[in-house]
Amino acid sequence: MMRLPKFDYRVPREIAEAVKIIAGSGPEGQFVAGGTDLYPNMKRRQQTPRTVISVMRVPELNQVTGDGKSGIRIGASVTLTDIVEHPLINRDYPVIAHAARSISTPILRNMGTIGGNLLLDTRCNYYDQNYEWRKGVNFCLKKDGDICWVAPGSSKCWAVQSSDLVPVMVAIGAKFRLASTLGERMIDAAGFYNDDGIDYLTKRPDELLVDIHLPPLNGWRASYQKLRRRGAFDFPVLGVAAWIQVDETNNGSGRADTIKNARIVLGGIGPSPIDVKEAGEALIGQPLDDDRIQAAAEAAYVKARPLDNTDFVMNWRKQMTRQYTLRALQELTSMD
Ligand SMILES: Cc1cc2nc3c(=O)[nH]c(=O)nc-3n(C[C@H](O)[C@H](O)[C@H](O)COP(=O)(O)OP(=O)(O)OC[C@H]3O[C@@H](n4cnc5c(N)ncnc54)[C@H](O)[C@@H]3O)c2cc1C
Ligand code: SF4
Repeated sequence: MMRLPKFDYRVPREIAEAVKIIAGSGPEGQFVAGGTDLYPNMKRRQQTPRTVISVMRVPELNQVTGDGKSGIRIGASVTLTDIVEHPLINRDYPVIAHAARSISTPILRNMGTIGGNLLLDTRCNYYDQNYEWRKGVNFCLKKDGDICWVAPGSSKCWAVQSSDLVPVMVAIGAKFRLASTLGERMIDAAGFYNDDGIDYLTKRPDELLVDIHLPPLNGWRASYQKLRRRGAFDFPVLGVAAWIQVDETNNGSGRADTIKNARIVLGGIGPSPIDVKEAGEALIGQPLDDDRIQAAAEAAYVKARPLDNTDFVMNWRKQMTRQYTLRALQELTSMD
């Protein structure tokens, strides 16, 4: 049986207290929310904080406020179950509820939070193993070793960004609020992730994710398609988030809506989410018809370069990028 290492456990009740504790803990401190990612990682000795600081009892991190007209603010400690069941999120941001519903299992969603999901550790077949297994292969670059078993000539780690909500947040243009003893800052979801399996966040370790700001609904809609082995539960090995904003000046003219802006964001195939600019550009200035959809899907396929470090054969995952982009865009044609 894998056991947790010993650690101090702190439960602050205010943001100021939480950031003060982590600042005082130095590199040995780490926040925890539901623990569904951190605790298994600690058992496998992949992450080994001496001070673990819970963010679940800070009231500001547990609130959902606003609506589709003004934009919604979701506290980082709101559980995935609360997001799946939230009436306002389901009404105004169904893509968020849909992506959250596809994460893990009902029991894990009761524990797991939106913040923890957006900060999930990157994943790899050579890393998500117990300590003895990893020791047997002399570890790897990401933890305790000096070689990448996926790309042995590479000095970079290619572990995969495997959150279902991350590509959606990037596609819809969400912003994240961070706090530390140095103050607060807002950052775009698009600028939050590094293309590096080890240093995968632009967030400093002493920064607390306070909340997630979803933009107002001004003529946009979005969809998410997830590829995984088991429908019941599994991490995504490809996620496609599609976002379009229509030109509403056409409304009532009898013409099909022209697309003003578009983004196609791929998750689950690299260390960071991939915004395929060529796919978005293929959609702009035209109505969402079959030709445009095919062109965008082709652009996403060309850009996708999955490696052999998660489930399924990498070439097949690349092929599926075309298919899943088609599906995501076709879903958008059936929405209001
Ligand atoms: C069997 C299984 C299946 C899973 N399937 C999926 C899946 O299909 N899709 C998917 O996306 N995920 C999946 N997960 C991963 C995980 O359950 C979810 O991503 C969950 O949302 C993580 O949230 P958490 O609150 O438990 O995170 P935690 O484990 O508490 O934290 C995760 C990381 O975030 C940091 N953190 C948490 N909150 C804050 C904060 N407010 N400020 C700063 N740092 C913070 C922690 O330090 C840690 O590094 C699965 C996990 C398991 C065990
Ligand atoms: S991509 Fe390479 S360095 Fe990164 S976790 Fe996998 S084997 Fe390790």
